[in-house]
Amino acid sequence: MSEDVFKKIISHCKEYGFVFQSSEIYDGLSAVYDYGQMGVELKNNLKRYWWDSMVLLHENVVGIDSAIFMHPTIWKASGHVDAFNDPLIDNKDSKKRYRADVLIEDHLAKIDDKINKEVEKAAKRFGESFDETMFRQTNPRILENQAKRDEIHSRFAKALNDNNLDELRQIIIDCEIVCPVSGTRNWTEVRQFNLMFATEMGSTADGAMKVYLRPETAQGIFVNFLNVQKTGRMKIPFGIAQIGKAFRNEIVARQFIFRMREFEQMEMQFFVRPGEELDWFAKWKETRMKWHKALGYGDNKYRFHDHDKLAHYANAATDIEFEMPFGFKEVEGIHSRTDFDLASHEKFSGKKLQYFDPELNKSYTPYVIETSIGVDRMFLSTMAASYAEEELEGGESRVVLKLPAALAPIKLAVLPLVKKDGLPEKAREIIDSLKFDFKCQYDEKDSIGKRYRRQDAIGTPYCVTVDHQSLEDNTVTIRYRDTMQQERVTIDKLSDIISDKVSMKNLLKTIG
Ligand code: ATP
Repeated sequence: MSEDVFKKIISHCKEYGFVFQSSEIYDGLSAVYDYGQMGVELKNNLKRYWWDSMVLLHENVVGIDSAIFMHPTIWKASGHVDAFNDPLIDNKDSKKRYRADVLIEDHLAKIDDKINKEVEKAAKRFGESFDETMFRQTNPRILENQAKRDEIHSRFAKALNDNNLDELRQIIIDCEIVCPVSGTRNWTEVRQFNLMFATEMGSTADGAMKVYLRPETAQGIFVNFLNVQKTGRMKIPFGIAQIGKAFRNEIVARQFIFRMREFEQMEMQFFVRPGEELDWFAKWKETRMKWHKALGYGDNKYRFHDHDKLAHYANAATDIEFEMPFGFKEVEGIHSRTDFDLASHEKFSGKKLQYFDPELNKSYTPYVIETSIGVDRMFLSTMAASYAEEELEGGESRVVLKLPAALAPIKLAVLPLVKKDGLPEKAREIIDSLKFDFKCQYDEKDSIGKRYRRQDAIGTPYCVTVDHQSLEDNTVTIRYRDTMQQERVTIDKLSDIISDKVSMKNLLKTIG
């Protein structure tokens, strides 16, 4: 997939009411987006798939909904005030600002591409007898590129770990990385930039209190750990799940809803006995990958990416990456956070956040495995995986969103063949009987062909056409989105046919 397809997806999102630029009539607000009438349904379905997979399928996972505003000391304790920074660098000619780490990562990805292209070319040339491992180990051009990559990579990982901003800049200079806009290498120093938004709360004689818009939902879970454990009589291991908005003043906010300043997260913190965290880390990695793959976007579109730089609190971390139109990118992070957060909140608040383990007959600060996924990135990967342009017989073409039926905003469109003879009334009757179970849409405008196209474009899995015969024998034509096949069925069968595929329960059963 290419940038070109990405542009088409963005305009498709706008044209069909999935995603709008925020404040559009005022020329927009950078990296902030609104979800439209179709987008909100799809987004809600994604959230439901995640929520149910957590709290229905795991007896020991419960949810909460904590506030966006929290006591400012929380962000001291979590490390966000001091260390939630991105290294930024400006190009003096274009005046564009970049994340220094992203410039270097993109450069590394280019070298990887070069190597992979070389391998692909050779695979074609040698055909069946091709031995990829051997080729990678012996081809001089590959060896040279690989060595170059490894060297940059180890310098990069070290610079990040040491927080060495001069070295990050030096790598950019040494790799001759140019600004994509000006094409020059005229770079400023690298500086740290804190990503939290601050605002003021209340007004007292001494002034207002500085509070932050939360940059992640996780801290709301940590500070409620004991509340939930005690009132829910939870026993370790157990998890707390939450879906909610998070805010980050991203330096380079582009790529549509991939990197936003206001976004939504679905996070789950799983509390375990110290020493058992790496086993749970492995389990949650597997569980979460299964959740992604069950959507059927293609197993080859996912991969794990282990972190080069472990955050100060983590003892293991990986990302689940999805192949976006612009390459493999992080959709979800899975982190083993040790007891860093709870221990730190104990220290800063002076309150005990320990668990008494009746089996071990002792108290301890639990260790935590976190799974953290962005709703918006999940939305984008869903769009990218579902968008298709198809050539049809007779020189026609169609754009179709092949959304998993359980996620589709509209499950069923009911279309009277003509606007008269009692057909609209019959169509309404069908909707009235199905509307409690499925989101239905009525459409009587334009030809049937045009109406099918409109439903294809929003990913509606089923269209039902009501014609004159329907009045006589209570049958309708049902048309399937992906195959475009049609069959005649009795109206009372519709509910069964539709519920089988669109049911969230059936989707959950594949992973539960
Ligand atoms: P990145 O390296 O891309 O900035 P991150 O590693 O900072 O992401 P986390 O802090 O692990 O991200 O956040 C967990 C998840 O939240 C990410 O996997 C992503 O899906 C989502 N997320 C983070 N930042 C943004 C953003 N600015 N816009 C949309 N989603 C985001």
